Amino acid sequence: MTFRSLVGHRRVTTLLSRAIGRETLPPTLLFAGPAGVGKWQAAMATAQALNCLNPVQPTGFDSRDGDALAIDSCGECRSCERINRGLHVDVITVAPDDKASIKIDVVRDVLARTTYRPFEGRRRVVLIREAETLEPQAQNALLKSLEEPPPATVFIMTTSVPGALLPTVRSRSMTIRFGRLPAADVAAVLVRDFEQSEPQARALAALADGSIGQALALENADVSVLRETALELLQQAAGRGDAQRRLQVAGAIVGPPKKERAREDMAIVFRLTASMLRDIEAINSGVDARLIANPIVADDLRALARHFGGDRGRDAFAAVDRALSALERNVGAKVVAEWLSLQL
Ligand SMILES: [Zn+2]
Repeated sequence: MTFRSLVGHRRVTTLLSRAIGRETLPPTLLFAGPAGVGKWQAAMATAQALNCLNPVQPTGFDSRDGDALAIDSCGECRSCERINRGLHVDVITVAPDDKASIKIDVVRDVLARTTYRPFEGRRRVVLIREAETLEPQAQNALLKSLEEPPPATVFIMTTSVPGALLPTVRSRSMTIRFGRLPAADVAAVLVRDFEQSEPQARALAALADGSIGQALALENADVSVLRETALELLQQAAGRGDAQRRLQVAGAIVGPPKKERAREDMAIVFRLTASMLRDIEAINSGVDARLIANPIVADDLRALARHFGGDRGRDAFAAVDRALSALERNVGAKVVAEWLSLQL
């Protein structure tokens, strides 16, 4: 993985690349941000840029706002090859075990390997994935090394839950924040790396909340059923159906008692609703029909368009947004669904 092939996160990759070029990269880094946005890829790209045998200065790279990469790995030399395939002896990766934790023994083994100078590379890089799964003892075992890293060693931890790390670990690391990706970037990666068709990629990206990981997870969810539910929600609201009918839809969103839908799936229903409202806005402003995110229900959306013009559309969108954040804050599923069904 090279910096220039990473989609999005230009500010961050520029920063990393420049620090590597000037040899001022801090030895302990924490890449924090939502799951599935490319933190791990950025960590791998950093390891590669630190050890590449023929580093390049990419030209023609987006240089607006001074976002130009100072240095990048070639992606082809022996070192880049080996890092890519996970075979480079000086690039050590640690990931959670099947119980979703990283134990102290694993950390001790890794630290033992950092007491010597790098064997084949210029820098030894220890990459710790989902660092929030480090058990507290494992984190404590790391502390001394994070504070005084062994010579020529860089630690990079990635996490979507920085708050789950001990404050002592966080305070010894330089935190680099990764944001969510624009939907267009998510779609671009799905097409480029995951063999998705353009329309399918756009449909998934519209629901993925800026995360490639989430877009891929959606492939496993039964999106067509969830889409039907979202459409029903808008249709009942458009007809200004009585409260009874609307609450029925809320019930359908949550699912029958004892077989309640997973909160993640409920969130997808809300995101689908938001994405349909965006489509409706596009339809109302005469945008090319091929560009809407939910072409499968285009006719239904056209029928809904006159109900959700102007302020009502905007208010509906804001309500869905509030419902989503309530869901994230763990507010009861039924409460959220009922509230939204009456708000729209
Ligand atoms: Zn290289």
